[in-house]
Amino acid sequence: MPDRAPQPVDRQLPTDEARDLISLVRDIAQREIAPRAAAEEEAGRFPREIFTLLSEAGLLGLPYDPEYGGGEQPYEVYLQVLEELATARLTVGLGVSVHTLASHALATFGTKQQQVEHLPAMLGGGLLGAYCLSEPASGSDAASLRTKAVRDGDDWVISGTKAWITHGGVADFYTVMARTGEDGPRGITAFLVPGDAEGLSAAAPEKKMGMKGSPTAQVHFDGVRVGDDRRVGEEGQGFAIALSALDSGRLGIAACAIGVAQAALDAAVEYALGRRQFGRPIADFQGLRFMLADMATQIEAGRALYLAAARLKDAGRPFAKQAAMAKLHCTDTAMKVTTDAVQVLGGYGYTADFPVERHMREAKVLQIVEGTNQIQRMVIARHLAGPETR
Ligand SMILES: Cc1cc2nc3c(=O)[nH]c(=O)nc-3n(C[C@H](O)[C@H](O)[C@H](O)COP(=O)(O)OP(=O)(O)OC[C@H]3O[C@@H](n4cnc5c(N)ncnc54)[C@H](O)[C@@H]3O)c2cc1C
Repeated sequence: MPDRAPQPVDRQLPTDEARDLISLVRDIAQREIAPRAAAEEEAGRFPREIFTLLSEAGLLGLPYDPEYGGGEQPYEVYLQVLEELATARLTVGLGVSVHTLASHALATFGTKQQQVEHLPAMLGGGLLGAYCLSEPASGSDAASLRTKAVRDGDDWVISGTKAWITHGGVADFYTVMARTGEDGPRGITAFLVPGDAEGLSAAAPEKKMGMKGSPTAQVHFDGVRVGDDRRVGEEGQGFAIALSALDSGRLGIAACAIGVAQAALDAAVEYALGRRQFGRPIADFQGLRFMLADMATQIEAGRALYLAAARLKDAGRPFAKQAAMAKLHCTDTAMKVTTDAVQVLGGYGYTADFPVERHMREAKVLQIVEGTNQIQRMVIARHLAGPETR
């Protein structure tokens, strides 16, 4: 192997503070996250202590209000932090993205009193969050969810099963969308449920193709009682809150996808320089050089797309269409680039001795979560051509 480590990504960052932040993240990623990634993913071990460390470093509330422990960073900076974390290990990058998604409801739609009471612990007090929208029978058609919350005096009693919940069983708080009224999107309300609430339990984690270190589980709500002070937003506003969180969350998925793709490209370049065939490094062959060039170009295009969407959001302008485009393009890019990286490594790429087969398995899930890429195309088309006619 050549003595040549992959060069860090040359990032456009708006402030010195942001540059320091990226240096800090790279340091944590190199020292604490990347070295254990392969072994812990193989073993299916969730690195809870890494999230505690990230919380202590102020990295679990980056885009939120500093008054409540947030980092007051623009999305263009927060997303690049996520990308760096995902390059080191997707379980961590995606975990931070999901935690940020789970915090969105309270940080954006909560009352002042709720924010004072709960946000500091969520954003910088070591807690870890989960976001509960999907159910066994409602995925893409999330507005058909059936988990119920029934009013009982000053309380709500929540019953039902959520599916595919990232951090299910290990989270300290669950942002839960439940039906409180009519069928369809207008009958849904959001709640903040503590992880130790009586009646809340998680099934065994799903056995997944990749991201085995990130627990994904069904979460059962068996008459879970919460006070009305844990209702977030108005009754019936829950679906709008869920979608608002997903607009931002999709940008997180896009950034994570580019992180995984970058990791695969770095591994492919390093390997191509060291592996010799026909008396030369395989990096000399134009067939591979063009492949590497295409991979790098797709990554840069994806990074530019998610940053353009983030800058719209940071400027307070509509960004839902661009977020869907970024999620679609960046996750398809991750799938293509990681698949090509396996090809660059030949037979070795197909083994667990090198990281690219893991990156390829991990990339697949990004085309599915937070709205499949078919759903992203529906969102984009609605912006172009209006709602579908039936
Ligand atoms: C690892 C992992 C982690 C996850 N984490 C979370 C989480 O933390 N919280 C959470 O709430 N959910 C989570 N999810 C759930 C995820 O968001 C759903 O899997 C996703 O929304 C798709 O739903 P589904 O799996 O039920 O597929 P379905 O909705 O049943 O879709 C099946 C197929 O049909 C296609 N399809 C459906 N409707 C249409 C349409 N109208 N037009 C064209 N094609 C269509 C889909 O694109 C897909 O290809 C997670 C999933 C995974 C795998």
